[in-house]
Amino acid sequence: MIESFESMTVALPETMTDDPDTDYPCISKPASSSKISAVGSSVDLKAIEGAVRTILTAVGEDADRDGLLETPRRVAKMYAEMFCGLQLDPGRHLEVTFQEDYDEIVLVKDIEFTSMCEHHLLPFRGVAHVAYIPNGRVTGLSKLARVVEEVSRRPQVQERMTQTIADLMEERLGSSAVAVVLKAEHTCMSIRGIRKPGSMTVTSSMRGAFRSDPASRAEVISLMNQS
Ligand SMILES: [Zn+2]
Repeated sequence: MIESFESMTVALPETMTDDPDTDYPCISKPASSSKISAVGSSVDLKAIEGAVRTILTAVGEDADRDGLLETPRRVAKMYAEMFCGLQLDPGRHLEVTFQEDYDEIVLVKDIEFTSMCEHHLLPFRGVAHVAYIPNGRVTGLSKLARVVEEVSRRPQVQERMTQTIADLMEERLGSSAVAVVLKAEHTCMSIRGIRKPGSMTVTSSMRGAFRSDPASRAEVISLMNQS
């Protein structure tokens, strides 16, 4: 028996399922507005749509053909999502801490992230390992993952992303030792230019005892490398 058309579920490619009213994890779109707003700032979706149309025309496409009609709108929403971290203070997640007499390493490993290389606007994807030694107070473990997630949502280079996360942990946690290591594959190196898929870029930022004390540094790196 054939189901009625109304009750059939049609699987669409991911790019075709986006709901105009869907909120992104860290931004919200007021009803009847083309601008996505967050914390006193906004993303101008219409301006991005116009720019995407210009690019399509410039590469020789017909921006008015059926398959491309909705593309500028989708790409505008994608950029709003990928760059929503620009509107936020990721360090706010570290403001709530709990008193705890634990003064050894706290390490959260393999926090997956996707960011955008600011030189090519292509994604780089990988994992972050973040560690600190509490200064009498600890933060929630998921908060560290939230910081990585929000910092990743900006156009940037991996080096600066690493330092930004370390800065936030050092400043907001008042920790005497912070270690951040990022490992990522850059699509600007794998799908264009030198075309070396699989090559990984590793960056680190060591603060306090992890920078000055070789034994502490060796311990945290060893914990990060354990599987
Ligand atoms: Zn790049």
